[in-house]
Amino acid sequence: MQIETLVRCIKKNKPKADLKLVRKAYRFAEKHHKGQKRESGEPFIEHPLQVAKILAEHSLDIQTIVAGLLHDTVEDTKASIETIKKEFGAEVANLVDGVTKIKELHVTNWEERHAESIRKMIMASAQDIRVIFIKLADKLHNMRTVKACREDKRKRVAQEVMDVYAPIAYKLGMAGIKSELEDLAFEQLNPEAYKNIITKLKKTIAQREKEMAEFRNVLEPELEKNGIKPLKIFGRAKHAYSIYRKMQKYNYGIEGVYDLIALRIITNTVKECYEVVGIIHQLWKPMPGRFKDFIAMPKPNMYQSLHTTVIAKGQPVEIQVRTKDMDKIAEEGIAAHWHYKGVYGDKEFDAKLSWLRQILDWQRELRDSKEFMEMLHFDFFEKEIYTFTPRGDVISLPRGATVLDFAYAVHSNVGDTCIGARVNGKFVPVRTELSNGNLVEIITSKAQKPSRDWLKFVVTSKAKTKIKQRIRELGKIPVKSYRAKETGKSHEEWIIKVDGVRDPEIHIARCCNPLPGEPIVGFASNAGKVSIHKAGCFNIKKLEVGLRKKQVNVGWIDTDGATVEVKVDAVDRVGLFAEILNSVVATNTQIKAASARTISSGMVECSFSIEPKSLAHLGDILRRIRRIKDVKKVYIGGMKKS
Ligand code: MN
Repeated sequence: MQIETLVRCIKKNKPKADLKLVRKAYRFAEKHHKGQKRESGEPFIEHPLQVAKILAEHSLDIQTIVAGLLHDTVEDTKASIETIKKEFGAEVANLVDGVTKIKELHVTNWEERHAESIRKMIMASAQDIRVIFIKLADKLHNMRTVKACREDKRKRVAQEVMDVYAPIAYKLGMAGIKSELEDLAFEQLNPEAYKNIITKLKKTIAQREKEMAEFRNVLEPELEKNGIKPLKIFGRAKHAYSIYRKMQKYNYGIEGVYDLIALRIITNTVKECYEVVGIIHQLWKPMPGRFKDFIAMPKPNMYQSLHTTVIAKGQPVEIQVRTKDMDKIAEEGIAAHWHYKGVYGDKEFDAKLSWLRQILDWQRELRDSKEFMEMLHFDFFEKEIYTFTPRGDVISLPRGATVLDFAYAVHSNVGDTCIGARVNGKFVPVRTELSNGNLVEIITSKAQKPSRDWLKFVVTSKAKTKIKQRIRELGKIPVKSYRAKETGKSHEEWIIKVDGVRDPEIHIARCCNPLPGEPIVGFASNAGKVSIHKAGCFNIKKLEVGLRKKQVNVGWIDTDGATVEVKVDAVDRVGLFAEILNSVVATNTQIKAASARTISSGMVECSFSIEPKSLAHLGDILRRIRRIKDVKKVYIGGMKKS
């Protein structure tokens, strides 16, 4: 292919495009790839040229096309990103960098590679979605020429395309690229089935065309009578892989699938779409349950169309009706939109691509990866799930694996001392089942010990073995008896100051339970005990008449800039620790350290450190924790001012 072929292709879609940069990029790529050959034996430059052409055919902007020409220079030649930035600008350099980074996969296990590829794709797309267009064009050209490669490489590349790139193309609404990728990969992965389908399709083509013509001969005059002139009516090209999938899904007799006639009608207006379907339903009997209105309710990838299946001469005929714009989006998806307006800053477009925004958010917060993975739902995830450590390492686990399995997979010490985890930023108990794409941060406590209960929910053999081993080593785990006295002990001296009483023993009154920040009054006994009531508590009246107690000046100690340790005594149950921590996180508070220990059979003490923004904030946190079921006591265990 010559550079002029590319230039012509760009001019067709973008007559005003600046072609100087394209030619310069071509010269740059040609110079750097000089002497390199593809596996087919042709000069390497053919590959970037073809990739750029695919991008141009999809009406992508000049920067993307230029980056397409340069996409392999950093990885495969001596060219550096800095040089590209200097010569072609930061935008192009970022795109090339993004494409290059997707390739840097540092995983050994093949299955992990999939998860890792997806992650890299997400990361890259979050920077600039055009990186994915380039990557898809790259894969498409590689697949078109895959026959030149060795058998094992062919299968490997094909599997990756099937598992990762085709679903991503689908999610981006690029049906054209998706279908082609799938068929090319299908041909490599299951050559026999592919050949079979293609041969049968060819055999039945004449018959199908005849039936199609008959159908149109009835339909078209009827449309004209109603004043409708569709822009286009055509038989839909069926692709081999979708037939294969249909055969498997519906268990169709093979013939049933091949005989199926599929028709697409492109109209001028949305109104006409509905009119056309109405007329078709008058002419032929619609199959129940097969009419679908994707115009009123577009698919998440923006696909819009009306679908129906009718029976003509005892044969099902599948029909899609849509406008020209809808058709363009159906074929090219997000890429079609790119050259209209650009992706960002177009509110309507943004709304349509809410799933993509989720990826962008995920990139920012490392959340919602589960949803993303589920959205793409890859078959290879069926038996295994892929989870990530905070450092981004992939931990693969069997389906049904829990937080504790993850902890043991990291290290047996981590498992032994695991008290819970933060999964995608949310605190969860040890028995929580993990899902694909979860980002898991294990929380440990030195006081934690493995328990026999754990064996009831862990699924990995590593976790089971290690837990049993530790229990044997520990013998019977001694349980400290919970000292009843301790529950009554007040720790509020940390946060309340009392005037005129030496070493006061502070008691928060049970009747009104004042919280930090609330107005309080104190009453001291001769023994140095000071009880703290909320100002206005109904018990104060009674105390005032009592002679034994005298009112003293009390006040909250300012928590500004202090680290406060909060302790919670509670009846232990599954999920309690996570619930407590989540209630704290819900107040926009960062937890600096958290731990839990058993204080008697059935009772636990949870401690964590926070930096409250104000006394009222601290009060709010304590109030929330108090409301949690099974929480018996919440108190301040300490305070440190920096
Ligand atoms: Mn390439």
